[in-house]
Amino acid sequence: MDSFASRRNGLVENLRQAGFLKKKEVIAALLKVPREEFIPIGLKDSAYADSPLPSFDGQTISAPHMVAIMCELLDLKPGQIVLEVGAGTGYHAAVCAEIVAPSNLPEPLWGHVFAIERISSLVEFASHNLQECGYDNRVSIFKGDGTMGLKERSPFDRILVTAAAPRIPPPLMMQLKDGGKMVIPVGEVFSVQNLILLVRNSEEFKETAYGGCVFVPLYGKYGWD
Ligand code: SAH
Repeated sequence: MDSFASRRNGLVENLRQAGFLKKKEVIAALLKVPREEFIPIGLKDSAYADSPLPSFDGQTISAPHMVAIMCELLDLKPGQIVLEVGAGTGYHAAVCAEIVAPSNLPEPLWGHVFAIERISSLVEFASHNLQECGYDNRVSIFKGDGTMGLKERSPFDRILVTAAAPRIPPPLMMQLKDGGKMVIPVGEVFSVQNLILLVRNSEEFKETAYGGCVFVPLYGKYGWD
């Protein structure tokens, strides 16, 4: 069996050929972050299959092509402040951190990723994984209802929501910077969902739909009950 590193290279090459990966920063980040370190023991062998995998409490870690699509749409740049709702295993937050705070950039130029998770066991799992992989200086994990955003750290250049919402939570819209972008799946529970890119222009919000997807439900005040 190939090493994790060579399987990671193979997956990234496949995602490039399939057209999911274009930006060099996103490609570099996916080549750098060890997905196997964010996968529960017993499933690590599947770390480089392009499929979602179970994490804990019925939750999942998104398929690599979905991580790629969302990072490409977000148009992440070094120095940006990012909010992720649905930290899960911490993998997607680490990929974002590799783009907004790359290791080869001096620390004063780094951005930061704030990630919220509602399930305690995943808050612990994500925090542990990020620390083990050396991302705890660029990603901060919070426990709570991410549909409320994270007012004390707002406004954000970018917001990504990795669970499907019935509608775009208003607090997240309000915590987006002018010119900021949000990517969020909106739709029914485990059924028809659409990946939406929202761009803020002062008090106007422009929505573009990027097609079907399936995410676990976003629960909370502005999510599902
Ligand atoms: N991005 C994650 C995968 C996310 S799966 C990764 O890279 O591993 C979606 C996550 O959203 C689940 O862990 C779920 O518990 C969480 N979630 C659902 N509703 C939430 C809410 N209101 N606030 C914070 N997290 C929530």
